Amino acid sequence: MSSLTQLPNSLEQHWMPFTANRNFKENPRLIVGAQGMYYTTHKGDKVIDGSSGLFCVAAGHGRREIAEAVQQALLELDYAPPFQFGHPASFELSRRIAALTPGDLNHVFFTNSGSESVDTALKIALAYQKARGEGQRMRLVGRERAYHGVNFGGLSVAGMVNNKKAFGLGLPWALHLRHTQLPEHKFTPGQPETGAELAEDLQRFVDLHGADSIAAVIVEPIAGSTGALVPPKGYLERLRAICDRHHILLIFDEVICAFGRTGKQFAADAFGVVPDMITMAKALTNGVVPMGAVAVSDRIYETVTGAAPEASVELFHGYTYSGCPVASVAALATRDIFEREQLVERAAGMTPAFLERLFALRDLPVVTDIRGYGLLGGIDLAPLEAPGLRGLAVMQRLYDGGLMLKMTGDTALVSPPLVCEEKHIDEIFSKLRDVLKSQ
Ligand code: PLP
Repeated sequence: MSSLTQLPNSLEQHWMPFTANRNFKENPRLIVGAQGMYYTTHKGDKVIDGSSGLFCVAAGHGRREIAEAVQQALLELDYAPPFQFGHPASFELSRRIAALTPGDLNHVFFTNSGSESVDTALKIALAYQKARGEGQRMRLVGRERAYHGVNFGGLSVAGMVNNKKAFGLGLPWALHLRHTQLPEHKFTPGQPETGAELAEDLQRFVDLHGADSIAAVIVEPIAGSTGALVPPKGYLERLRAICDRHHILLIFDEVICAFGRTGKQFAADAFGVVPDMITMAKALTNGVVPMGAVAVSDRIYETVTGAAPEASVELFHGYTYSGCPVASVAALATRDIFEREQLVERAAGMTPAFLERLFALRDLPVVTDIRGYGLLGGIDLAPLEAPGLRGLAVMQRLYDGGLMLKMTGDTALVSPPLVCEEKHIDEIFSKLRDVLKSQ
């Protein structure tokens, strides 16, 4: 029995992240095993994974290829410092990511999480503007209802209120576009027809504050954690055009979308808009080892490196574990699986069946809205006396009935592993229907 399967003597000392700690510790949900599409709970039950862990286990659980690559890496090269030294695997991984990214996003900076990827991208945006002689451009623009992780940069540009309210003012000069969920979008599969003009908020910031004060705008192409808000048709194109007009960098936070969630490699490909940077994490290593990355354009890389004196450090930023051997190797093994099993194409093939089952839930009285794109869906539920209570109760009942879903407030997020088959989608939605119809 390992420490993963042996039940702990006490739950009290562990302060759990984004968790109702007191509620959890009264009725714990411990996972002791995972294989393919299923978890095993500490009570011995099988639970289907309807949200790829936290959007990360794209290739399904318990992949031997990744485990074996990680084991071998640990024995060959446990660690190598990433500052002023390197090791082959992170270079090979950068090459393979750069081959996938759209446009000229040919340079990759490694981090350990989505939050770090976001803060790295924001810092690179500031460094880029400074390197081209526009260091006064310090404003960073985010959006209402955005989630960009938990570090101070990402928190400052994000717009999920509960995540922000305990933590003070954040970065000065952060601005927020309005979110894109309009009342007429209710129950619209895919991209809504209306709302592209909301991108003009960026032009209003330019008019009000001056383009020469704005470094970058960051958006999730599909706002994931706030409930899968799909961008209106033409919205991202309009943001791109305003950015181009005013030398503002456009960052896509694809921590959820990257690597096939939309049925394309990146959401940038799905929506046909090339940003200047893409943040990623989650599915990069199939969730096995923490790792994130930021892909940046040739222009950004060359401007920042070119502005520094010969033989000096160009960007004073990085992490002890940036591109560490074990994470790089896990990501390479994940890439191999993606290519061999054509997971992005598989996700695209499964999308119609997924969206059909997702939107079929609209007849249930407790369901107030549904959104979906690719293998990502958001289902809003009518709240009880206080926001989040319904979500928590539904999550517990689903789990007891054998389905794990990520809840955000009173919204259920469905995002199965990309290896799912139609029978898994049927199982997920029939379990969901059973619980929701009794609400
Ligand atoms: N950005 C987006 C769009 C995310 O969805 C998330 C996590 O869900 C993050 C950033 C933060 O990632 P992490 O939890 O790995 O720090």
